[in-house]
Amino acid sequence: MAYEVSHFINGEFVDSGRRFPIVYPATGEQIGSAPEGSEAEIDQAVAAARAAFASWSRLKPSERRRILHRFADAIESHGDELARLETLDVGRPMRENSRHYIQRAAANIRFFADFAAMMPSEAYPMENGYINYVLRHPVGVAGLITPWNVPLLLETWKIGPALAFGNTVVLKPAEWTPLGAWKLSQLAKESGLPPGVFNVVHGFGPQSAGEFLTRHPDVNILSFTGETVTGQTIMANAAPTLKRLSFELGGKGANIVFADAEWDRMLDVSVRAAFFNQGEFCLASPRIFVERPAYDRFVEEFVQRARSLRVGDPMDPETQMGSLIAPEHLERVLGFVERAVQAGARVATGGRRLELPAPFNGGNFMEPTVILGASSNDEICQTEVFGPVVTVTPFDDEEEVVAWANGTQYGLSAVVQTKDVRRAHRVAAALQVGTVWVNDFFVRDLRVPFGGMKFSGIGREGGHYSLEVFTEPVNICVAV
Ligand code: NAD
Repeated sequence: MAYEVSHFINGEFVDSGRRFPIVYPATGEQIGSAPEGSEAEIDQAVAAARAAFASWSRLKPSERRRILHRFADAIESHGDELARLETLDVGRPMRENSRHYIQRAAANIRFFADFAAMMPSEAYPMENGYINYVLRHPVGVAGLITPWNVPLLLETWKIGPALAFGNTVVLKPAEWTPLGAWKLSQLAKESGLPPGVFNVVHGFGPQSAGEFLTRHPDVNILSFTGETVTGQTIMANAAPTLKRLSFELGGKGANIVFADAEWDRMLDVSVRAAFFNQGEFCLASPRIFVERPAYDRFVEEFVQRARSLRVGDPMDPETQMGSLIAPEHLERVLGFVERAVQAGARVATGGRRLELPAPFNGGNFMEPTVILGASSNDEICQTEVFGPVVTVTPFDDEEEVVAWANGTQYGLSAVVQTKDVRRAHRVAAALQVGTVWVNDFFVRDLRVPFGGMKFSGIGREGGHYSLEVFTEPVNICVAV
């Protein structure tokens, strides 16, 4: 089946002249095409969003909630199709697109719809009798720009709060993964989102739909998830129009394993934190630090687990790791491994492209890769690889490992594994990251702040933190 994707502007599915291919990462086959949005489509989408803002922002939150719940219901009831489209987009195995994954996409919409309808407001009575209170107005037109690695999760993560708080939206999905966003636009229409409230323009970044959205004078806020360098460019391009910015950027997480950790659980967590989504995951923890007494056993068993992962056909329910997103990305990941070896590290397992029989010989499969002997300043420990490649390094004491874990430009997430409660809290608090998981990985509560420090982002989203991104607080001071 060939997927012919369209933009979604002002409630209509529209095309634009130039189209680009949609490629299934696992086979390299073209499975459809998508339109490349130009300045004209961005202008139309922003104008539609601006026009719709007048009425959408004035709807009662409970009315917005009703419509957004229908949207969330539609996501859930089309879960199987969305899961399949996500795998065609990303190359991730179907088993990782579990019901839980799709439910999370729906929950992103549902949670913020409920939150906005039920949130409290602040009041600050003064000693002299004046009363201050705070109203939260929507900001206006929100430009949402998303990456290719977990598209459905991140698109809904931004659409949910933006719409629930009364903003209107222009979404620019990643060019490698247009299918899920296209389906979302169909479901939005079916669920009765009024025309112009939610628009999707497909296309590329620089000098294409992404940049035009970033520079558009009538876009009030940009919520962007993607690479740190892209964030830097967007920040510069958004400066003349002084947009509000929320950035969720790259990561280089540490997984700190103390010798007392609950062994089997710790191994499971470490494998997931390394190879979920082929390691193409901002929250991955590819720098594994293991306390020296446990190091040899860890290496032996972790390498064994990495070797035994079933890599291949993402549609096969038994497959545990799928295809990387594109040939150029696979080359980039292999390049990191090659340079790590040149710098003196050793590949304990993997490190190569995986050749599979047709039709997967056209895919971008890679062996799960474990590197030993890298030093913490090496490129492999400092730069985001975004593939199934981890380093394992022994450590001797807590202070040393905390310094190594904090010793990159990133600060998104980390994992700490130990049975010692006091140590778990101490180490977690010392890590310069936005999220720390203790004895687990990628457990998400939508009420908590999500985002990163340093080069991993600006601001936090989630729960009431999303108010800072998607609303304007207004102080009303009343003389009584
Ligand atoms: P990317 O920065 O290349 O692209 C992300 C999006 O930005 C795409 O839609 C792209 O078209 C657009 N874009 C690119 N250049 C642009 C420009 N000049 N102006 C406007 N838009 C532009 O990122 P990617 O390769 O798609 O995704 C991988 C990156 O995303 C990794 O660094 C990963 O860590 C990061 N990421 C972060 C989080 C998080 O929550 N912090 C989550 C997922 C992914």
